[in-house]
Order: sequence, then C-alpha cells, then structure tokens
Amino acid sequence: MASLVLSYYVVLRSVLRIKPELRKCLARCRHCGIFFLSDPRNAGRQDLGCPFGCSRAHRQRQSTQRSVAYYREPEGRVKKQALNTRRRKTPAPPVPPSPVPPGLRPFLQYVCVMVGLIEGRPVGLWEVIEMLERTVRQHRMVRTRRIDQSVAWLNEQPP
Ligand SMILES: [Zn+2]
Repeated sequence: MASLVLSYYVVLRSVLRIKPELRKCLARCRHCGIFFLSDPRNAGRQDLGCPFGCSRAHRQRQSTQRSVAYYREPEGRVKKQALNTRRRKTPAPPVPPSPVPPGLRPFLQYVCVMVGLIEGRPVGLWEVIEMLERTVRQHRMVRTRRIDQSVAWLNEQPP
C-alpha cells in the first residue's frame, strides 16, 4: 500500500511539473491527509475528502446517521414499520450488472478528473474505460509479440 501511494505521488508530482497551473487544484483529504487533484471548482476548499474512498465512506456514514436519527422519531418509526412489512411481501428486484466494479468507480472517476485537468477538456467515464482497455490490449499485444520472437529464436537455435 505504501509503495502504491509513493508511485502515485511520483505521478502527481510530474503532472504538476508539466502543468504548474494545476497546483491550484491540489487539495488535501481532510480524513486521511493524502494529496489529490480536485475539480477546479473546488479550488481552495479545505473540507474535501479524497476520491480513494474517504469521501464515499463519509457520505455513507452521514446518510446512516441521518436515517438512524429519522427512524428514532415517532413519524419515522411508523414509516419504518410500513417499509419492513412491504419488504417482507415483495422480494428485492435483481440488480443489473454494471460494466464497472463498484469498488473501481471512484478511481475511474478520479482518473476522469485528472485526464480532464491535464487535457483541459471534460472527459467522460467511457473515454477513460476505453483508454484503459486500449492500454491493456496493447500490453497484451507487446507481450505476445515478445513470446513469438522468443519462439522464433528458439526454432532457429534449438537448445
Ligand atoms: Zn482520504
């Protein structure tokens, strides 16, 4: 994990060297303290959570707190009873499969923001997914070519 953070900081620093104007987008997570690039609209804010899970965890905690507080009220208690009765009657609908694993989504969204900041244009999530798929394909191609070359070499010079 520490080496992952280190290589992330190396990338972040080289990005900031190429694009010094992005320095104003540099933000620090108020939960875990990691530095990250935020949307320019958030520039200068001190209350941001990083895209590596902290902001999502914080949102979830808040929403849990909200609903716990609500269901403690008499009005909420009645509603919860109705909800529970209904839940017992109707089975939960199946969740449609998403092309992106839910755990990966915050990372991809962050890559979106990063690429958008570097290229100076809005970048869609699908573009990032396409880009990553292309990179993986290319890596695989290079590897296959290398194996092919080794096989060819072995054919010419058998051991
Ligand atoms: Zn954080």
